[in-house]
Amino acid sequence: MAPTVTSSRAASLDETRSMMHERLKGVVPEIEIEAKVELAHAINVRKRKMNAVILGHNYMEPALYHSVPDYVGDSLQLASIAAETDADVIVFCGVWFMGETAKVLNPSKTVLVPSDKAGCSLAEGITAEDIKRLKERFPGAVVVTYVNTYASAKAESDYCCTSGNADKVIGKLLEQGHTRILFLPDAYLAANTAAQMGVPYLDSESDAAAFDAVAPDQPLVIGWRAKCEVHELFTPEDVDNIRRQYPDAVILAHPECSPEVIAKVDVSGSTKAMVDYVRDVDAPCYALFTECAMGDNLAAEFPHRNMIRACTLRCKHMNFITLEDTLAGLEKLQYKVALAPDLIERARLPIERMIAIR
Ligand code: SF4
Repeated sequence: MAPTVTSSRAASLDETRSMMHERLKGVVPEIEIEAKVELAHAINVRKRKMNAVILGHNYMEPALYHSVPDYVGDSLQLASIAAETDADVIVFCGVWFMGETAKVLNPSKTVLVPSDKAGCSLAEGITAEDIKRLKERFPGAVVVTYVNTYASAKAESDYCCTSGNADKVIGKLLEQGHTRILFLPDAYLAANTAAQMGVPYLDSESDAAAFDAVAPDQPLVIGWRAKCEVHELFTPEDVDNIRRQYPDAVILAHPECSPEVIAKVDVSGSTKAMVDYVRDVDAPCYALFTECAMGDNLAAEFPHRNMIRACTLRCKHMNFITLEDTLAGLEKLQYKVALAPDLIERARLPIERMIAIR
């Protein structure tokens, strides 16, 4: 885990100011830090009063990421924290499906997401009805859904996974002898993971002849058509451009990027894998093909590392989460994640399986 200890240490306004300047110097202009110090302090005071815990996804903007979360990380790390916390209130500074996952894992807690607009093109790219139809079409297939789905889709699944453990989940299913694996909904993550595992991949809309060509006892990953609206925009030409300008750069890409991009970069990995790589592996400079707040957050966390911070792509959903809305969320207890008990019950097992497979 990568817990931030800063917010709990910074009890007074002055301590919050020092902490933010220290952590964000060289990354965020001082006037922006000054504009946000009082907000961050107010959030931390209220958080402690309410016995709330704030979880911050790696894609949060730097001033938020480095000031109010008690824990930061990727979906898998934060889901594990949410499952175990004894705080009364969980504030998920991330997108809506992440709040739902926290609620499923710890249903007695009040779970807040600071914006009700923070969706995700992947979560919106498949419904429970779509999955029911796929199960009818591919009877006997085991269903793996990416964590970037709503609870109603998870409830129709056998396993969930994140980009951090997709290979391990698929590996486990192969060990168990499954030969038809529906890996939903991200077409690129499914294709990239299948390639990594040496398993053929077909889109679920492929011709019957393509399916007939794969013997029933041969493993096959079957995908869906959804994509991350951010990562799908990176192109192989972008990789070439970075290499031309920064020949020494190590290029890291999230596996929600296309297989053509993944084939050209140096490292493919989840946001946690990127954090670990930048922390642990010396390189002249690093370029990240993912939501651009990551580059800023790593530049602040590892000031001795040279991050190429080309902010070309932002996730509008992640950017709905602001310090202002986080404070409003705590003050007004909004926006509460509410899920029906039977939905929580059905979605829990695939999520727990995801957390158990590291
Ligand atoms: S970056 Fe992509 S996968 Fe992540 S929340 Fe935004 S749209 Fe969804």
